[in-house]
Amino acid sequence: MSASQIPAAAVATGDEVPTLLVKIFGKDRPGITAGLFDTLAAFAVDVIDIEQVVTRGRITLCALVTAPVGGWATEGSLRSTVHSWADSMHLQTEIISGRGDNRPRGMGRSHVTVLGHPLTAESTAAIAARITDTGGNIDRIFRLAKYPVTAVEFAVSGTDTEKLRTTLATESAALGVDVAVVAAGLQRRAQRLVVMDVDSTLIQDEVIELFAAHAGCEAEVAEVTARAMRGELDFEQSLHERVALLAGLDESVVEKVRAEVRLTPGARTLIRTLKRLGFQVGVVSGGFTQVTDDLRERLGLDFASANTLEIVDGKLTGRVTGEIVDRAGKARLLRRFAAEAGVPLAQTVAIGDGANDLDMLNAAGLGVAFNAKPVVREAAHTAVNVPFLDTVLYLLGVTREEVEAANTHE
Ligand SMILES: [Mg+2]
Repeated sequence: MSASQIPAAAVATGDEVPTLLVKIFGKDRPGITAGLFDTLAAFAVDVIDIEQVVTRGRITLCALVTAPVGGWATEGSLRSTVHSWADSMHLQTEIISGRGDNRPRGMGRSHVTVLGHPLTAESTAAIAARITDTGGNIDRIFRLAKYPVTAVEFAVSGTDTEKLRTTLATESAALGVDVAVVAAGLQRRAQRLVVMDVDSTLIQDEVIELFAAHAGCEAEVAEVTARAMRGELDFEQSLHERVALLAGLDESVVEKVRAEVRLTPGARTLIRTLKRLGFQVGVVSGGFTQVTDDLRERLGLDFASANTLEIVDGKLTGRVTGEIVDRAGKARLLRRFAAEAGVPLAQTVAIGDGANDLDMLNAAGLGVAFNAKPVVREAAHTAVNVPFLDTVLYLLGVTREEVEAANTHE
């Protein structure tokens, strides 16, 4: 039956149309899909839906087609023809008669990305069960990446994205996997600006501690930094206190510190891939322009802003100059970068680890707590707790294969 032959009433309800679900399973090799549809073509059926997946060399191919015109005899003939074709290909097949199309997917659609290192059956079971608890239905599951983590994405419908996020956040903390929940829709693909914190996010170090090591006050500074990042100290006050300890350092230390900075694994891949996808990328740091300007240059960043260490007569004065980049300042800079990039805030992604990143993470369309302090992890939209920055790409729905394909065409 071609579409033009389906009675108007049947098209309107969908349920009235007799349909056949044809499922093929077996060892994958070229030509299976062509072979099945070639076989079906002899019965002049129309295709309503197709889903195909290959897992460890085994194909699962499901085709939903209109039942052939001509009643049971013709359907019987279709069944035996498909079975003998499948037998000849050493494939298993199942054909189920029914009516209509898939049940429409429910309102409230979300993407749930699960990152495991490894991903255990126990975690997968718990996450699927919690999705069901919220009233959600899993419509589709596929793997985004097998390296450096196992990342899978669940397409879920029928439940509120916020409710799903809250429920799964609790579960993921208990299971030790990372779960990100984002609303489905065009907005997810429209995200166009990523703004990152620098210390302990883009890089593995805290820049002020690298300076402090040269001034012989590393332990003292590290202690204050840790308290500030846990949200126990006012950031600006702690910044002035720590910078004061650097007074008298020779400016040649700046070059040394730049050379000591260690990028977080996956940082280059993340930035390179984002740029290829057409994103603009920026950094905001409670650290210093003496380092962020260098990173902007090296990594081809679009925006960078940080505090500036004052240098007079070749020595650090122990003061910072210009606009202070603190917790409120980071959120302000995210807004400024977004305005300059011409990107609405809802289409921005912010990544950070410290308490001073919280306003920025909450202001962004998607806030990602990256190996963050507990206070940050609990308040952010989503958390990543594996030490690879490029895993953020999976939260945006980019697959590892796409990342690798993009990076082989340098
Ligand atoms: Mg940080």
